[in-house]
Amino acid sequence: ICVLGIESSCDDTAAAVIQNGRILSNVIATQKIHEEYGGVVPELASRAHQQNIVPVVHQALVKANIDKKQLSAIAFTRGPGLMGSLLVGTSFAKSLAMGLNIPLIEVNHMQAHILAHFIDEPEQEKPEFPFLAMTISGGHTQIVLVKDYFEMEVIGQTLDDAVGEAFDKSAKILGLPYPGGPVLDKLAQEGDPLAFPFPKPQVGPLDFSFSGLKTAVLYFVQKKTQEDPNFVENNLNDICASIQYTIVEYLMDKLKKAVKTTGINRIAIGGGVSANSGIRRALELASKDLGWKTYVPKFEFCTDNAAMIAMVGQLKLERGLISDTSVTAKARFSL
Ligand code: ATP
Ligand code: FE
Repeated sequence: ICVLGIESSCDDTAAAVIQNGRILSNVIATQKIHEEYGGVVPELASRAHQQNIVPVVHQALVKANIDKKQLSAIAFTRGPGLMGSLLVGTSFAKSLAMGLNIPLIEVNHMQAHILAHFIDEPEQEKPEFPFLAMTISGGHTQIVLVKDYFEMEVIGQTLDDAVGEAFDKSAKILGLPYPGGPVLDKLAQEGDPLAFPFPKPQVGPLDFSFSGLKTAVLYFVQKKTQEDPNFVENNLNDICASIQYTIVEYLMDKLKKAVKTTGINRIAIGGGVSANSGIRRALELASKDLGWKTYVPKFEFCTDNAAMIAMVGQLKLERGLISDTSVTAKARFSL
């Protein structure tokens, strides 16, 4: 079977073709327009999706060397995400499925981030059920107990900002360009992680809170800059390293608690923040010292992509989980 996946939940327009678990093409158009605003502008994102969707889908089919008549189904991101963005992908997928008279399959974006681990990549090991998935991205921070492909339970999540936002907002306070996460990560590698202590908010044992960290970074920078106007400039690496250390420790603390409460030590991570060097190192250490089995997908399957949507499309098609053509986009869509 051959499924076309379409993703348009935020600011990336993406399309991919999967055939029997193998990704034949994975095309993504990243919208640059948001950089100058320092964050995603929903209205502009929606318009850019409208411009990108036809060429991106076309390219995915050409790269896969698949004619649209060979497709078995169309899978699309129904939610969660920005409504204006979701509508573009949803409408396009519906029309294409109707035109080709093939099944239409809705996909939950967060479920897809987790099931990206099942894409058939030789160097990518697939986790055994049940496992714990930690989705760390620009919009989400969740720990999910994954019992089976479509049996998932959120056991912990952020009560306010997502971890990616914590990275991006801290970076913004330090005057770094958007999106700040990768830049902060790079600078952190040259700094002392214990130079400056930042607080780790106390919330439910498996829940997260990141808004306090952002405020702590802001007050810290304001206070220190009053004493020395060049403080940030002169201590940038150490500040970045300290922020990153705090975030990574916090994520690891929660994972350790989740392992303890569930008795499961297979840990899969996904979402853009799983590119972070600190969390990757911490997971490597945990697998050595604590005997965890850890899974990190290829970077292109961590950030928003359509390969994961196509993957879920295939899994659903195999199980007869097909959507009605009256299906609509859903900005808030729980697992
Ligand atoms: P969602 O999947 O929840 O809808 P999203 O699509 O915006 O959110 P992703 O594309 O998965 O999120 O991830 C983007 C986030 O990952 C940004 O906040 C970015 O700063 C962060 N990020 C990427 N690389 C790194 C890194 N090396 N260190 C820290 N953060 C990073
Ligand atoms: Fe995402």
